[in-house]
This record gives sequence, C-alpha cells and structure tokens, in this order.
Amino acid sequence: MPSRFRVHDLHIHTHFSSDSVEELKAYAEAGEQLAIHVGYLDHFELAFQDREGYLTEERLPELLEEFSEVHSRYPNTSLSLEVDYYSHLSSEVGEFCDNHCHDFDYLIGTVHNVDGLAVTSRREMAIFVQKFVLIDVMRRYFEEVEAAIRSKLFDGIAHIDAAMRYAPNFSEASQKTEDYWRTRTLELGKISRQYNLPVEVNLTGLNYPWGRTHPDQELIDLLAESGTKFFVGSDSHRMKLFVQSVPLVRQMTKYLQEKGALMLPGNLVSL
Ligand SMILES: [Zn+2]
Ligand SMILES: [Zn+2]
Repeated sequence: MPSRFRVHDLHIHTHFSSDSVEELKAYAEAGEQLAIHVGYLDHFELAFQDREGYLTEERLPELLEEFSEVHSRYPNTSLSLEVDYYSHLSSEVGEFCDNHCHDFDYLIGTVHNVDGLAVTSRREMAIFVQKFVLIDVMRRYFEEVEAAIRSKLFDGIAHIDAAMRYAPNFSEASQKTEDYWRTRTLELGKISRQYNLPVEVNLTGLNYPWGRTHPDQELIDLLAESGTKFFVGSDSHRMKLFVQSVPLVRQMTKYLQEKGALMLPGNLVSL
C-alpha cells in the first residue's frame, strides 16, 4: 500500500479504543495539513471482550466502515489494530488474526497484560510489584513479548519494553533489574530482526516522568547497529498529543532513515 507522505505516525488511538474519544476523521484532516501519514492502531484485547467500552469482534465492521469513508477522502491513512498477545490464549489470538488480517493493512502485536494484570497500568503494576519483585514481573513481561514476536502473527511489534515505565519505583530499580531490562530489550530487538518484524519507537514516554522513548535512544542505536528495523508511533489517544508529537515523529523518522533502520510494517511503503 503506497503512502504519499514520507513521515508516518503509526500509533493513533480513536474512539474505538476504550481510552480515547477521538474521531478518525479529525486525525486524518490534521495529518493532511501536517503532511503526515496517520496509522490508526486501536486496541484489540481478546481477553476482555466482555469489558465495557472495549472493541469487540462484533464491532469491527463499524471500524472498517468508518475507516473506509475516511480513507476515500484522506488516502494518507492506514488501518491496523494493536492486538494483545497472551501465551495462554495463543490459538485464539491466532484464529482472530487469521480471520481478520485481510481487513487491515497490517497487524501490530503487543503485550499489556501478564497473568491477568495490566503491566501498563500504574495501579495494577503497584499490585504486581507488591507480590513479586520488579525483576520477576519484567521477566514474565518479556517472556510474553518474546512469544508475541515468535508467534509470527504480526507485521510489527509495539513498545517492546514499556512495562518498565509503569513500575511505581522504576527510578529506584536496582542495577540488576536495569541491566536485565536493557539486555532483554536488546535480545528482543534482535529476535524481531530474525522474524523480519519492525519494532516500534514509541514516543509516549517522553510525556511522562520516564522522559524517554521506548526503546530509549541508547537501545535504538545499539539495535540499529545490529540490523533491527523500526517504525515510529506517538501512541496518541488525544488529537492534541498527535499534533504536538509531529515534530518528534519527523525527527525520529529522519534519524532512523539516516541509519538505514526505518521499516514500515506490512506492505506500507513511502512513494
Ligand atoms: Zn500499547
Ligand atoms: Zn497504544
């Protein structure tokens, strides 16, 4: 699928995600004005189909229809899902991807939940680290991310090391935990390369006390040197953040391009 714009923000949430209210069209209009490709990436969480506000399989036709209307006016858009992977539901997630991959331009895999708790929620992470030490939570999290990469179900992988940011005490993490997180992020980036999967450079951490991207600059550089490819996502849930992030998306895209480390997922290509 060709894209007119050279800069792509491929992580945009809309009202089809429980944590956003934005219309697809609003982003597309802004993207057109700012000369940036808009990649919609709403959450799809198979384990939470019965939760209020979560995108259900039954509602997918509604998303496809809204996208098709927007896309006919704004071709600078692509449609994907941020599909949660859970190793205990691997065959169900596989079945979902098989049934729906043709409805989307590409599918992005992700891990937000480990053993029933959301590692990307400060509240649930606090419960998690009361029961287990942070390094063990990270161990389980990375196991799930690795399984998502190796599942071959996805065309790209989102924020491979994000859980660390949600730990209530990440800034006081032990050197051992810090080293473990870096080592595993590097390993997972290299495994992604073996599977020809681009890894997201997720910019959202810049807006939080974390103050860095996922992976951070040092890890991006090390991974790029070893051949890992990346795409860029702002993880915007609000229009304001999308617009604010444009200069950063542009800057990161240029940086990756110069290193030969930019790769768009699926068959998305820049003209
Ligand atoms: Zn996410
Ligand atoms: Zn997201």
